[in-house]
Amino acid sequence: SGPELAAVVANGTIDVPDFPKAGIVFKDLMPLFADGAAFRRVVDGIVARYPDGFDVVAGVEARGFVVAAAVAYATGTGVIPVRKAGKLPRKALSATYALEYGEATLEVHEDAFIAGQRVLVVDDVLATGGTAGAALDLVERAGGTVAGFSVLMELAFLEGRKRLAPREVHALLTV
Ligand code: AMP
Repeated sequence: SGPELAAVVANGTIDVPDFPKAGIVFKDLMPLFADGAAFRRVVDGIVARYPDGFDVVAGVEARGFVVAAAVAYATGTGVIPVRKAGKLPRKALSATYALEYGEATLEVHEDAFIAGQRVLVVDDVLATGGTAGAALDLVERAGGTVAGFSVLMELAFLEGRKRLAPREVHALLTV
């Protein structure tokens, strides 16, 4: 259930104060990823949220890759990596955005998606929504149709969800 899944995410997270900068509380989800039973539950929880399915999963570098690969395997779909600048070997589209801590650019291969492919975009944490907004823009510019955006944890006080409206955001845990 929703509250059970939220508890699984909460129990698998360690708050790290002042990382990577003073004033930021970093949500470390590595303990969740390391716990096989917990990881399976959250992946199954994400899949269950999209009963109409999707054609492919886009994961945001780097922790989004972990979630994306598992969701893709569980559903027999593929993974499209949304990467940080300069990592992709072929022609890519790019989007630059402001972060909770700094600025960054994301990229995706221009031929990553088949036109109209329904894409589930996943990441570990939704903070200000800058990353998610850039990833969703890239998916759409590359010809994909966003089927949903799913995160393990949403930091509600940063109001990332508002920035992404009217796109729907699903979070297993909102803090
Ligand atoms: P934002 O673009 O502000 O929504 O930031 C989201 C991205 O940065 C995600 O890829 C997260 O992995 C990472 N991130 C931002 N803030 C945090 C935080 N407090 N704890 C863990 N990851 C974070």
